[in-house]
Amino acid sequence: MEPKQFRHFIDGEFVGSSKTFEKRRPSDNALLGYIHEGGKSEVDAAVAAARAAMKGPWGKMTVDQRVELLYKVADEITRRFGDFVQAEMDDTGQPKSMMEHAMIPRGAANFKIFADVIKNVPAESFMMATPDGAGALNYAIRVPKGVIGVVCPWNAPLLLMTWKVGPALACGNTVVVKPSEETPGTATLLGEVMNAVGVPKGVFNVVHGFGPNSAGAFLTAHKGVDAITFTGETRTGAAIMKAAADGIRPVSFECGGKNAGIVFADADLDAAIEGLGRAAFLNCGQICLGTERIYVERPLFERFVAAMKVKAESLKPGDPSDKGTGLGPLISAEHKRKVLSYYEKAKAEGATIVTGGGVPQMPGELANGNWVQPTIWTGLPETASVVREEIFGPCTHISPFDTEDEVIDKANATEYGLSTTIWTSNLGRAHRVAAKIEVGIAWINSWFLRDLRTPFGGSKQSGIGREGGVHSLEFYTEMRNICVKL
Ligand code: NAD
Repeated sequence: MEPKQFRHFIDGEFVGSSKTFEKRRPSDNALLGYIHEGGKSEVDAAVAAARAAMKGPWGKMTVDQRVELLYKVADEITRRFGDFVQAEMDDTGQPKSMMEHAMIPRGAANFKIFADVIKNVPAESFMMATPDGAGALNYAIRVPKGVIGVVCPWNAPLLLMTWKVGPALACGNTVVVKPSEETPGTATLLGEVMNAVGVPKGVFNVVHGFGPNSAGAFLTAHKGVDAITFTGETRTGAAIMKAAADGIRPVSFECGGKNAGIVFADADLDAAIEGLGRAAFLNCGQICLGTERIYVERPLFERFVAAMKVKAESLKPGDPSDKGTGLGPLISAEHKRKVLSYYEKAKAEGATIVTGGGVPQMPGELANGNWVQPTIWTGLPETASVVREEIFGPCTHISPFDTEDEVIDKANATEYGLSTTIWTSNLGRAHRVAAKIEVGIAWINSWFLRDLRTPFGGSKQSGIGREGGVHSLEFYTEMRNICVKL
């Protein structure tokens, strides 16, 4: 495999830096290529290009012209589907089927969805009475915020990046993206797509690098960035918020979670196992909306645990490009160390290990990859680290509960508030409990079912603001009121 060069995309050109760092493939840790590390000068150049583009042809386009261009971006991603699937699979090590069915199609769809939103959204107007009887008309217009800094995580690189870049561009902004240092591939490809369909230079820029004292910190501190949207860990969000305070620049944050799954004894067991099996293990547990703690009503507890064990053990780790692969590796050797440290903590804190708890035997080169076993624990108190802290691995703790009030209190006893998934055949209870869990999204008898028009975001320390559908416009545009005396 010839090592690739992951360069920045600034003002419509691919540019390199003198400093680079290695990108390794998670499945076997083979060298995939070198990522160019952006410093102050690359960030300065990207922000300057983005500011200039606001004043160029992009800033003068009609909504219809922008919408047409964003449809072309989506179509070009679809035309280069195989390249995107391969790049994302190499970067994350997750199964090809997941790239083909979810990550890449959703990445393309994000451009069309927000193009449609901006085309169809109404603006408000108010007639007001005036003493002379003639009245006045107030009407609102939406204008772009300007240059948006987009800071992304590694767990769903294209999907989460376009979830921000799609609405930002639809609203007429320009962007400087800082992809995760773990996953440079699809952001780089998106630069090629932008050029191929004729998005004006400087509208979409990418600067690679790390967070602190690197591209991420330089971008978020940059005075030329008008607003910052970020997905990642809560403590990184806190650092970015401090940077954004200088210039009181708005932020939109999608942060960590420690989401509870709740299963009542009257639930459809097969459906609950299917849903919670995905919630715990999909993407090797590296999904912010995943479920690392499950509460099961006592009469169903033993059967549920036994069925989840079967589910976990049915997931076959393997080469991401093989059809039969059900489980990918963790993103990096460093993350593997973190997840395994929690596996050790669970043991030390007295967990019963229902399944997993270690590293699977992998054949050939795959033995060098970042593999861990899907793991289920029981028997820990609510104070245990693996019940409290976000691990971001393929693991979950299952405990019994006796009453509705008890399980609501347990689900809410966390500083996070991203999502929950509730399983029951009692509709009244489903609605009642869902409304009482302090989260941005509550699923009933489902998980990860997303209508992109709905508000998405976290309560408590899981985020700030809501994105999705018209809610994205709150962040990516500024509303101005014009008052006309008649
Ligand atoms: P992370 O916070 O470590 O990194 C995210 C991005 O921030 C990276 O690009 C990184 O380089 C950058 N960064 C780090 N420090 C920075 C700083 N001081 N200034 C500016 N940028 C900085 O997160 P991660 O490990 O990439 O992603 C996993 C986390 O993301 C988990 O906590 C997960 O729950 C969360 N997440 C949340 C959502 C959501 O929608 N709420 C979605 C996906 C992931």
